[in-house]
Amino acid sequence: MKPTRTIAIIGGGVAGLGPAWQLAERGWEVHLFERNRIGSGASSTAAGMLAPVSEATFKEKALLELGQQSLRLYPRLAEELDAVTGIDLDYRRQGTLIVAVDRDDAEALERLHQYHLELGLPAQRLVGQEARKKEPGLSPNIHYALFTPGDHQIDPAAMLEALAAALVEAGGTIHENTPVAGLQIGDGGVEGLRLDDGSTRDVSHVLIAAGAWTPELEGIPKAVLPHLRPVRGQMLIVELGNPPLIEHVIRAPDAYLVPRTDGRLFVGSTMEERGFDERLTAGGLLDILTGAWEAVPGIYDAPVIETRIGFRPVTLANEPVIGTTEIGGLHLSVGHGRNGILLTPATAYGLAQSIDSGQIPSWLEAFQP
Ligand SMILES: Cc1cc2nc3c(=O)[nH]c(=O)nc-3n(C[C@H](O)[C@H](O)[C@H](O)COP(=O)(O)OP(=O)(O)OC[C@H]3O[C@@H](n4cnc5c(N)ncnc54)[C@H](O)[C@@H]3O)c2cc1C
Repeated sequence: MKPTRTIAIIGGGVAGLGPAWQLAERGWEVHLFERNRIGSGASSTAAGMLAPVSEATFKEKALLELGQQSLRLYPRLAEELDAVTGIDLDYRRQGTLIVAVDRDDAEALERLHQYHLELGLPAQRLVGQEARKKEPGLSPNIHYALFTPGDHQIDPAAMLEALAAALVEAGGTIHENTPVAGLQIGDGGVEGLRLDDGSTRDVSHVLIAAGAWTPELEGIPKAVLPHLRPVRGQMLIVELGNPPLIEHVIRAPDAYLVPRTDGRLFVGSTMEERGFDERLTAGGLLDILTGAWEAVPGIYDAPVIETRIGFRPVTLANEPVIGTTEIGGLHLSVGHGRNGILLTPATAYGLAQSIDSGQIPSWLEAFQP
């Protein structure tokens, strides 16, 4: 039997919780440190779209493949979490409609569709009438749409709760309200952690998953960390209505709409370079509401439930970094950008395997530190 090993994980978002749970399942002693509460970063702000195909852009083929692999692992993740915790992720598989609201958008969407066809991705071209047959709430101004049946969604809040419960069930320990100040690294690699209260913890493995705040951690040699910045997203939640305003995820050029089984409709989201400014702006909300209203006019009367703001951890290459660094015992799970919820299974199973056995699964090879 393998000797039990100990790892400290910094960050209680999906990038930290997923591998934490899987390492605990593999017999590791896991201590996860979160400076606030579990999911207090970007992970609980997210809409929950699992959309490798509709997110596909022309220069990001490796990321597309990682997203597709992660989506293939989702049923396994949802089943395993449900079996251990009884928490349902609200995994909806209705597919996504990407709509064009004017002629320019239609041209852009047609180019995207040609790219889908080149790569053999499942996407179907629809004229306005066909799109409205699937989704009667769409604006009569929509003349062109793509249907991507393989793009699904889950409820990120449920997943965070389930991951935390599964981690504890597997023997891991969660330390909430415990900010980490930095790492202690010696000649032989990682030696421990220093907490904000001045105390230290001896540990020979550390996984950094502190989202957009990762660069604030002290003691990490600059050369091993990718450049990371926060990309701000504003989001609005309204009542979905009864009968529901829409059934599918709808992506319009300037906004997306994500219907939840619990009667909420998520409307997002801005992509803004404003550092960690947590104030919602009139312009940000105006942009996403106008974008949503152009696609689904019925949203005009929907009562507002909540607003949110979050900070995506984004690297210069727009790709995550998931793996073990050249410093002994130092591992990274950072830079998940717009796709951290989608990438949760690929990160959880893949990183736990590579830390535990040293064998990097093929889907993570392109994303090593
Ligand atoms: C508006 C919005 C919508 C989104 N929608 C989607 C979507 O539909 N689909 C999708 O796939 N992705 C989506 N995302 C992206 C996704 O939310 C992120 O990629 C993902 O949540 C990043 O996870 P993370 O664990 O790296 O970071 P976070 O969730 O930010 O977690 C980092 C954690 O580390 C903690 N921390 C920081 N510093 C310290 C410290 N010193 N000590 C201890 N703890 C610390 C923080 O408190 C935080 O809880 C969206 C993001 C936003 C903002």
